[in-house]
Amino acid sequence: MIDLKTLTIKKAHDHLSKKDFTASDLAHAYVKEIQNKNPDINAYLETYADIDAQAKLADQKFEAGTAGILTGIPLAIKDNILIKGRIVSSASKMLQHYTGTYDATVISKLKEHAPVFLGRANMDEFAMGGSTENSAFGVTKNPWDTSRVSGGSSGGSAAAVAADMALAALGSDTGGSIRQPASFCGLVGFKPSYGAVSRHGLMAMASSLDQVGPIAKTAEDAELIFNAIRGKDRMDSTTLEIINNTTEAKKHFRIGVPFSFMDKGVDADVMKNFTDSLEALKKLGHEIVDIELPNIDHALAVYYILMPAEVSSNLARFDGVKYGLHKDGKDLLEEYLLSRKEGFGDEVRRRIILGTYVLSTGYYDAYYNKANIVRALLVRDFETAFENVDFVATPTSPIPAFKIGEKSADPLAMYLADIFTVSANITSLPAISVPSGFANREGKLLPLGIQFTAPFKHDDTLFTIGKLFEQSRVY
Ligand code: GLN
Repeated sequence: MIDLKTLTIKKAHDHLSKKDFTASDLAHAYVKEIQNKNPDINAYLETYADIDAQAKLADQKFEAGTAGILTGIPLAIKDNILIKGRIVSSASKMLQHYTGTYDATVISKLKEHAPVFLGRANMDEFAMGGSTENSAFGVTKNPWDTSRVSGGSSGGSAAAVAADMALAALGSDTGGSIRQPASFCGLVGFKPSYGAVSRHGLMAMASSLDQVGPIAKTAEDAELIFNAIRGKDRMDSTTLEIINNTTEAKKHFRIGVPFSFMDKGVDADVMKNFTDSLEALKKLGHEIVDIELPNIDHALAVYYILMPAEVSSNLARFDGVKYGLHKDGKDLLEEYLLSRKEGFGDEVRRRIILGTYVLSTGYYDAYYNKANIVRALLVRDFETAFENVDFVATPTSPIPAFKIGEKSADPLAMYLADIFTVSANITSLPAISVPSGFANREGKLLPLGIQFTAPFKHDDTLFTIGKLFEQSRVY
């Protein structure tokens, strides 16, 4: 019996190397969990038919002595990352039957190691949401309490890992979609510096904010995946090579906390857990510094102007002609209207309308341009803060996982839950969410997370602080 509960990538690799079990054994153990749990949790929209063949390939690599750290590691892939020859739908009716025509760069980089792709993970449609309730194919339940959401938009990726239906996963993060579901499910979620990971083959939501990254059980596992997918890519001109900067081996950090920003509707248990976490960090020898980020109050407004603007432009390509769903109409305009009406869910349409509005003549200056100006101010705020501190820390989410249906009728309430995560995307900065303990609700433990944000390109130091924090075991 393989103990999936305590397994990490590092441990699995050691067992595979020592031939305690094969990649095929490991894949079968996960497939069994998926068969048992997925009908209820709905983390996967599809599990792949060729899992056995993929695992055999990994086993051959072990036989040949060419296996790497990710060889044979069973992964879930968010349903907006292209894999050649496989369906990839962004959990949208629009692309329900769409098959990837090429591998995303992150996929081709992973394939070099021969991991096992178990299946495609559920998500909010086109990554728009924070609960996976916007999937066209049903919500993903939180394995810690199935009456609650798994978070979003990468809720399927997080739930798969949390329920031992995958050892790790890829997600995408435009405003928190890796970090927030990771925190709701008791996992580590990492959003790289903008450009650290190629977006080639990631279905675009808001191109200036999107990044692919890992969801995993430990900071070390997340780091292993990040190291496999990072790097400059000639297919994405915004990518850059980030030199590993952890060699300085610094062990004591100055951690900035924007305390005046913390009274914004943060749940009492979340706040208590956050202050406990800060105490634990102090005990480890780190210094906690009160910092000001003068424009941080505007971050959410900036995000919910810029993001829909980019969404409205990116999703214009889904016209019923070029890709996916097509509806016949009496003329071209009617075909566009019918196809988009049928293909897109409510939240996607809401954002397209919002985005079109903020980009329209007359409102462009009032909204889009102004948001861009404040974006630049926010970048400056963080730069100033980082002159004095190594990291900025906040809770990842102001609330623990909420009930399915609790916020779906009120989009604004849902948007407010993104208050702590959006600024990293707006400012291009790397950020990590690390499990920090639990809130108790109705006798169930709901995981919480602490978020660390680092200066641009200092991605690697986030794994250092993540590992140090994990060792502090505050809970
Ligand atoms: N919850 C945020 C939103 O709804 C983040 C989405 C994301 O990161 N893809 O836009």
